Amino acid sequence: MKACIKCREYAIIHAENSKNLEILKLFEGKHRGHTVVILDFDEVKGSFKNFQEEKSEKTSESAE
Ligand SMILES: [Zn+2]
Repeated sequence: MKACIKCREYAIIHAENSKNLEILKLFEGKHRGHTVVILDFDEVKGSFKNFQEEKSEKTSESAE
């Protein structure tokens, strides 16, 4: 998964899922200029929060 060391957020990578690629794009856009690294789940759990969970809360409010 991709994780931003600065913000302590991560996004799971599902290469076969096109919806997930959009999420990864959003993640990279938000964390541009930050320290984004590839980590295993064991390394992020507990200390990082899920970027996708935060996103899904806001999706209902902002209609595209
Ligand atoms: Zn960041």
